[in-house]
Amino acid sequence: MPNTSELIAVKTKGYAAPTAGAPLAPFSFERRELREHDILIDIQFCGICHSDIHQARDEWGEYQEECIFPMVPGHEITGIVTAVGDKVTKYKIGDKVGVGCFVDSCRTCAACKANLEQYCLVKTVWTYNARDNEGNPTYGGYSDKFVVDENYALRIPDNLPLDGAAPLLCAGVTLYSPLRHWGAGPGKKVAIVGLGGLGHMGVKLAHTLGAEVTILSQSLKKQADGKRLGADHFYATSDPATFEKLEGSFDLILNTVSGELDWNEFLGLLRLNGTMVIVGLPEKPHSIAAFSLTGGRHSLAGSQIGGIKETQEMLDFCGTHNITSDIEVVPIQKVNEAYERVLKSDVRYRFVIDIATLK
Ligand code: NAP
Ligand code: ZN
Ligand code: ZN
Repeated sequence: MPNTSELIAVKTKGYAAPTAGAPLAPFSFERRELREHDILIDIQFCGICHSDIHQARDEWGEYQEECIFPMVPGHEITGIVTAVGDKVTKYKIGDKVGVGCFVDSCRTCAACKANLEQYCLVKTVWTYNARDNEGNPTYGGYSDKFVVDENYALRIPDNLPLDGAAPLLCAGVTLYSPLRHWGAGPGKKVAIVGLGGLGHMGVKLAHTLGAEVTILSQSLKKQADGKRLGADHFYATSDPATFEKLEGSFDLILNTVSGELDWNEFLGLLRLNGTMVIVGLPEKPHSIAAFSLTGGRHSLAGSQIGGIKETQEMLDFCGTHNITSDIEVVPIQKVNEAYERVLKSDVRYRFVIDIATLK
């Protein structure tokens, strides 16, 4: 079994965006040699999150310190452990593991101590397009190997396939966390806005948690799918009658939309004391009328992925209820095409890259 001293820097093959907005192309690089608490993962699958597209096109420039190219995106990673550092206790060779949106944090601040590493008050080290604690760029999962501290990896339940489980690492936990935080369950009316990668996981999870689920999609094209995924109701937001009919209906609205949208219209769909949680991350700011909030004591909130403990809880919940993502597996050579299809909302409901096609 390889140990820390036997391993040198890990040669890795992947796909990178060479500059902002340029098509992704093959890219070779090295990952750090294994430290005492590191595991080496042979990546099998990596989901394509809309955030990968925002970042590869540098659409969040205003909100980020820097955008680092070449950029290897990918934070919905699943694979098999192939080596472990000398002091690793949580994983062994052969284990099915995953990595989500971050790979380290300060570990000592109040947020980290509360298992909310995604809100680390010092620095969350994102899986790609970030710098690790040594200042080196991080590279994501559109690649064949990954090195990560065992404390920032997740265990994939045995009964879940690694392709369908990959999107749980971002899309799954991004919806699970606010559903739990705002108490979705029996007796609660939950609306999911946007039936894409995040949205379809929200429908499955909210339904399994026992909530009454409504999908608000741009059209009725995905209605049959929506019902199959577990929604009780389905409405088109292109039809103005939807907003009249559903006024004052929901305890909780999870808004996953990546583009421009009038949030005021959706706030009007909340019940007294209802909350709309923004998880979609559009490029441009949105304007809100005070009246959209005051009339029904409405709350507008945001939520970002989930911590390691909650991500593991979500994976175990999905294992128990046999929940995975509805996926279309693509070879890595088709990644640019897949991006275009995501932008057209032409995905049912997550693209997952088969990393074996890199070899
Ligand atoms: P996605 O698969 O593209 O889904 C987004 C869905 O939103 C689309 O399928 C579409 O659904 C709807 N939509 C898109 N453009 C719209 C527009 N202009 N007006 C109305 N509806 C529109 O993307 P995703 O991977 O789920 O990600 C969604 C957003 O969440 C992205 O901005 C992403 O960066 C962000 N995100 C945030 C977090 C977090 O932690 N907060 C984590 C991951 C991703 P319909 O066809 O049903 O209308
Ligand atoms: Zn993501
Ligand atoms: Zn911290």
